[in-house]
Amino acid sequence: IPGLAGRTLAVLGLGKSGLVAAKALKASGATVWAWDDSAAQRAQFAGEGIEPVDLGTADWARIDALVLSPGIPHSFPKPHPIAAQAKAANKPIIGDVELLLRAQPHARLLAITGTNGKSTTTALSGHILGAAGRQVAVGGNIGTPALALPALGVAGIYVLELSSYQLEITPSLKPTVAILLNITPDHIDRHGDMAGYIAAKERIFRRQGADDTAIIGIDDEPSRALRERIVARKAARVVSISSIRPAPAGVSGAGGKLVDDLDGKAEAVLDLTGVATLPGEHNWQNAAAAYAAMRALGLQRTPILEGIRTYPGLAHRQELIATIAGVRYVNDSKATNADATQKALVCYHPIYWILGGKPKEGGIESLKALFPRIAHAYLIGEASADFARTLKGQVAATECGTLDRAVAAAHAQAQADGKAGAVVLLSPACASFDQFANFEQRGDVFRQLVLALEPGNGQRR
Ligand code: ADP
Repeated sequence: IPGLAGRTLAVLGLGKSGLVAAKALKASGATVWAWDDSAAQRAQFAGEGIEPVDLGTADWARIDALVLSPGIPHSFPKPHPIAAQAKAANKPIIGDVELLLRAQPHARLLAITGTNGKSTTTALSGHILGAAGRQVAVGGNIGTPALALPALGVAGIYVLELSSYQLEITPSLKPTVAILLNITPDHIDRHGDMAGYIAAKERIFRRQGADDTAIIGIDDEPSRALRERIVARKAARVVSISSIRPAPAGVSGAGGKLVDDLDGKAEAVLDLTGVATLPGEHNWQNAAAAYAAMRALGLQRTPILEGIRTYPGLAHRQELIATIAGVRYVNDSKATNADATQKALVCYHPIYWILGGKPKEGGIESLKALFPRIAHAYLIGEASADFARTLKGQVAATECGTLDRAVAAAHAQAQADGKAGAVVLLSPACASFDQFANFEQRGDVFRQLVLALEPGNGQRR
């Protein structure tokens, strides 16, 4: 990272990305003052040769900027006290993506944001580019921290998933192609209100110029209004995407048919219902967005479609683990709320549904219309008793306590019933923290349990 020699940078938050950032700053000649509120994290850090400095009592006159982990609040509901100190001292607050842009000022970027679908669209885009032989690095909010990504040649493309928090601390962001998938109320606690949340998302387009492309979903009202503002600004070329209606001069995935109308002659180019790794209407939005982005980056239609067809899918998001005697076993551990679970339930019938965990506000009341698809529910974790009450009289349910018992029971029942199209689905509609470290661990345990079922009998994916 150029221009850092002799500077002093504060780094707050010593998780994976904070550690990489501190090391990169140090290697670039900066003095690094790093801090984390957790003593355990600090201890891990010291082992890496970076001495923690308590930023709470530091002399901010000597600090040039604060590098903040994306998970730490800097505005709403109230800033972390150390971020507040940086602000009071008039110091810039930046994230690791900003440092990547300074390290690679000429890099071409595909930046992706939205309330839902970011990871899928990012992974799909990265896969298509890689399969088409482009030099590509994928990271940001997903997987590899921005500063751990390799340096790319002039033809290379960084595909970055960016949360609204990251957008707020990446002032130099000027993506060649930017995608805003959708905006629904979420994380309002952090951004204060819907207007603040939308403003944070809108920053992805702020510095784009005539050579850049803004791809914007038109399936929700806030995104449509935002699109109007970007069009009115007359800077970037604006492309619409939809998963429920035609997208004039854009790309639609409505009805599972991918329609390319970018040149004003709507042409159906792919049947998305045949792509098993992108199930459901929500994924048609992600596919339409990735397709539009690939066209904007100059890829031909054939390699794009080939890339979509060969997309391997992401772990924990309606991930097909195995098919045993005609029954599919699907890991949707990422579905930590009813909204996300709804996306999976609409895809299958009949469902042997494993759910529960640490309950979220609202429970599963909103899923009632989909209960007729459920053959049997298997309840785990803290939410069990509550969910059992909601299901009572409508869905046969068993309180299993733990995931291993739930998998065994669901497997036995689904195999005994032998119904066509049957799916054993882990889609918990709950956080995992009552029984697991995180949703990834919960999904990994499910995978292991499924792969251990009737070895030799199952036809693995
Ligand atoms: P993110 O990275 O934004 O959290 P993911 O791609 O990881 O999104 O998807 C997480 C969950 O969100 C999926 O399991 C699905 O339930 C839901 N989802 C994915 N894409 C969309 C979309 N385009 N619109 C609405 N919901 C979606």
